[in-house]
Amino acid sequence: MSTAYVYDPVFLEHDRPGHVERRERLSATMHLLAQKELLGKLVEVQATLVPMEHLLTVHHEDYVKRAKEVAEGGGGNLDSDTYLNGRSYEVALTAAGGMLNLVDAILDGKADNGFALVRPPGHHALPGRGMGFCLFNNVAVGAAYALNHKGLSRVLIADFDLHHGNGTQEAFYSTDQVLYFSTHQYPYYPGTGHWSEIGVGQGEGFSVNVPLPPGVGDEGYERLFDEILYPVAERFRPELILVSAGYDAHWADPLGMMQLSSTGYGHLTETLKQIADEVCNGRLALTLEGGYDLEALSHSIAATLQTLMGGEIDDPLGPAPHPGIPVDDIVIDVKGVHRLV
Ligand SMILES: [Zn+2]
Repeated sequence: MSTAYVYDPVFLEHDRPGHVERRERLSATMHLLAQKELLGKLVEVQATLVPMEHLLTVHHEDYVKRAKEVAEGGGGNLDSDTYLNGRSYEVALTAAGGMLNLVDAILDGKADNGFALVRPPGHHALPGRGMGFCLFNNVAVGAAYALNHKGLSRVLIADFDLHHGNGTQEAFYSTDQVLYFSTHQYPYYPGTGHWSEIGVGQGEGFSVNVPLPPGVGDEGYERLFDEILYPVAERFRPELILVSAGYDAHWADPLGMMQLSSTGYGHLTETLKQIADEVCNGRLALTLEGGYDLEALSHSIAATLQTLMGGEIDDPLGPAPHPGIPVDDIVIDVKGVHRLV
């Protein structure tokens, strides 16, 4: 059993002072992982620039060109909250390339599972436009690569970020080769992700959205994973599971109103691992999305890695201050529309 990680100091070069999606998210995380002496127990996978042919399986060429031009011009904004500086284009190419290399390492048997500790994040990036702090859709590029270049025919993407991964959903909305499962606060940014969004054409039934009111905690999330994700995965039988790992559903996060704890994130990781063991020989690759409280983020990532490695976790931030709200109604809606009853 081995766990890999991807990291490169280049990921600290995409930054804008005062923005919540900042370099300290990864520097604080790496500092904690080093302090806990976790890194030496992991297989290190390099991050390299994503080859253009693989990026273009998800993104439109004119958008990629535009991102390059904005960065080469010294930086700018794609929308009110999505920035580039002079280095951001190359950093984003390296983030996508890091995820691709992690997929390679796992499919080639160099590690059982792993975590790409990359930024900028990716799941809001649409094929033709970056948004929501995201430039290129790292998880989507990883999934497309596994399908187009590694001979796979079914990839599951599970997204436990606070927000709906609208970019990932759009990239695969009409295919039955990628099943996209997302839990997210709703209604909330970016506005998509109602349970009635299930895919179109060949993709009908392959987008599984679990929109949540504020206040869902460890117990509620565990139930959603056990009662919805688990049977969905057993039915789909993916050959690889990718995860958009966002930690902004932690109770201490400034952007969200959810009540997950680091221990809860560990339990979700354990469930993902069990599913992967059952359906795809344990092949599980996570990539970092959101998470904006530095302490909650770094300790939750540590809990995730410790769970992937099969060890004990610790949770210095402790349980949520408020009890989680029940999820009975949404379980019924989602099970109904996806015929899981
Ligand atoms: Zn998020």
